[in-house]
Amino acid sequence: MNKEEMYEDIRRWKKEKNAVILAHYYQNDEIQAIADYVGDSLALSQIAAKTDAKIIVFCGVHFMAETAKILSPDKKVLLPNMKAGCIMADMIDEVRLSEYKKKNPDTIIMVYVNSTAKVKALSDICVTSSNALKIIDHYAKDNKKLLYCPDQNLGKYAMKLKGYNFDVWPGFCRIHHNLDTSMVERMKEKYPNSLFIAHPECKLDVLQMADYVGSTKQLVEYVEKSDKKDFIIGTEMGVIYEMKKRCPDKNFIPLSKTLICGQMKMTTLKDLYNCLKDETNEITLDEEIRVNAKRCLDRMLELS
Ligand code: SF4
Repeated sequence: MNKEEMYEDIRRWKKEKNAVILAHYYQNDEIQAIADYVGDSLALSQIAAKTDAKIIVFCGVHFMAETAKILSPDKKVLLPNMKAGCIMADMIDEVRLSEYKKKNPDTIIMVYVNSTAKVKALSDICVTSSNALKIIDHYAKDNKKLLYCPDQNLGKYAMKLKGYNFDVWPGFCRIHHNLDTSMVERMKEKYPNSLFIAHPECKLDVLQMADYVGSTKQLVEYVEKSDKKDFIIGTEMGVIYEMKKRCPDKNFIPLSKTLICGQMKMTTLKDLYNCLKDETNEITLDEEIRVNAKRCLDRMLELS
């Protein structure tokens, strides 16, 4: 069966089953091409909360499908490849977070969306890379004690930018964390007329060299609005598919060939096809965890 035949079946099943396909910007191009919505974590969780579809097929990693289930408990949420997880999300768990909370009972726990439902359930508020700075401002400006978890890089960037001081969990995304300043120097030298744009999961010294820092959605919007033609991309290279779609005449150069998230790329068109056909790989959650995790996400959606 070729790709077009698979697309045809997927389109027909979507209608017959009243299903919607959500895909993260880091997914393989062939998945982004058939998705109803392509976006970052915040946009996709807002769509998941509002959609009338009965089935949500979430092409992304495990915590994203969990987030959709937290927000849409009556819908069937399917994850095409159950092995697709997030390395950063796995750097924190409910046991270690509970221990931190016992030692720091007055601290507000701010959790990045890249976390499991169990960790969200123990947290006060969730953030994404689109709204983290705004929500950190909301709490930190009153000198409230904060823990930002699990991404140390976005937390450190916010502290530097705003002059705040709060606890950060030592987690990171290996894809972004492995970028370094020498790579930026080399690429800027090679493409002197380009702008370097980066995701805040990169290290602080790399971010300080960027012409613009933003979430995947913000990066896509930035290149669209910019009158520049060449961009060095400091995030997972899947985002280039959407950038190219919106700006076919511009050039997008990944900062490094290593900017590929193996977890995000694990989902194939075949996985999506089989998952929708048989309605397999359903995400289920303990109701108490879901309700507590939803409280943490609702607070974020209110402040976004
Ligand atoms: S790119 Fe990094 S943060 Fe995003 S899913 Fe992959 S491992 Fe997780």
